[in-house]
Amino acid sequence: MAYKISEDCIACGACAANCPVECIQAGDSKYEINPEICIECGTCSSVCPVGAPKLDD
Ligand code: SF4
Ligand code: SF4
Repeated sequence: MAYKISEDCIACGACAANCPVECIQAGDSKYEINPEICIECGTCSSVCPVGAPKLDD
């Protein structure tokens, strides 16, 4: 399991700047998490202003 960024993302970049394993990158319309690298720390969800990163289950 890994975190996944929903369509609510406003592409502010806060999650990517704070991810400890740098697995978040800007995509076409929103940021994307590489599920192979995500360690499920939850930091992206904590810093996101719109709550876009959620556990993908
Ligand atoms: Fe990065 Fe942690 Fe978010 Fe996974 S849960 S994308 S490791 S900040
Ligand atoms: Fe998108 Fe939230 Fe990440 Fe900002 S912090 S880029 S709104 S997922």
